[in-house]
Amino acid sequence: MSKRDYYEILGVSKNASKDDIKKAYKKLALQFHPDRNQGNKESEEKFKEVGEAYSVLSDDNKRAKYDRFGHEGLRGGGQGGGGFDFGGGSFDFGDAESIFEQFFGGGFGGSSRSRRSNSNAQRRGNDLQISIKLTLEEISKETTKKIKINKYIKCTSCNGSGAKSISSVSKCSSCGGTGEIRTVQRSILGQFVNVSPCHACDGMGEVILEKCTLCGGDGRIRDEKNVNVTIPPGVSEGQYLTLSGEGNAGRRGGQPGDLIVIIQEKEHKYFNRDRENLYYDLQLSVSEAALGAEIEVPIIEGKVKLKVPSGTQPGKKLMLKEKGLPVLNGYGKGDLIIRISIWIPTKLSKRAKELFEQLESLDDTKPKSSEKGFFEKIKDRLFD
Ligand SMILES: [Zn+2]
Ligand SMILES: [Zn+2]
Repeated sequence: MSKRDYYEILGVSKNASKDDIKKAYKKLALQFHPDRNQGNKESEEKFKEVGEAYSVLSDDNKRAKYDRFGHEGLRGGGQGGGGFDFGGGSFDFGDAESIFEQFFGGGFGGSSRSRRSNSNAQRRGNDLQISIKLTLEEISKETTKKIKINKYIKCTSCNGSGAKSISSVSKCSSCGGTGEIRTVQRSILGQFVNVSPCHACDGMGEVILEKCTLCGGDGRIRDEKNVNVTIPPGVSEGQYLTLSGEGNAGRRGGQPGDLIVIIQEKEHKYFNRDRENLYYDLQLSVSEAALGAEIEVPIIEGKVKLKVPSGTQPGKKLMLKEKGLPVLNGYGKGDLIIRISIWIPTKLSKRAKELFEQLESLDDTKPKSSEKGFFEKIKDRLFD
């Protein structure tokens, strides 16, 4: 399926402002609205196309993804493409119509189109929600997870219609096939026409005489499906992705719901996380801190050697630049911050005791604790 460029559809430039996009959409949506172009298939398609382009370009997040990955970036993760979100493939007429209504508040009213999409909306499948647990290693790069979900899918026997065969569908006699019931009310203010979806056919305009034996007329069956979810680098606990159309199939061909994937973070053995920065607590022996040392510390990708300078104080922070996590939807990486503490032995062997006693006899191994203001000098280092 080759798709036209969204900017081209709206006739705006790549760096158009939100306002320009809004204006362009407004103009085109009015021009191609089906109520102004009764039965014109081409303008219905145009209206849909314009609505889809607007739904993406008016949303900063979607627009950024589209700019970066094109149409591919917007497709649901089901096919294992590079997509993160918002199924570009499943945009429906009802979506364009509802964007239009949000925009103009009620649109042209009385349009049988919007009612058809309302009845379609009633049959829409439920959204499903799952959570996936990721390690910091997985969060540090783009990760694709295969998840198994048990959900309603379109019935394979009737292709979602709910009918045994084409001949077992007939026009609804209650509404004459229009899917809506009109009632006229008279009042002192004049005549009102009330339009509501037909209950006999659920607003579909047709009834099933002989139901599909596999799904019992529901148009959907339960099945287990594998979905590939591609998670952009830098996500954090509680954030979620929406895979459009990957939720439950709708009743009798109704639109499928979405699959909401909630991110959870597994606790890491070594690191604490503060957004894109990582923290690691390094304990040094008294002699390592005094003499300086080269110590192996963990990073997300493995290990590195860290040079600890001689005379390193407890509370000191050493920084490994850009060894943190990537910034979500952005550029660059956080840092790995190494917090130093000094390990003091609590049990001493005879030999160790002797050596400490020797150290103690020297003047330059002892703090001048009586010095006024010493605590003030190191306070910041200890508590920030
Ligand atoms: Zn069926
Ligand atoms: Zn009916």
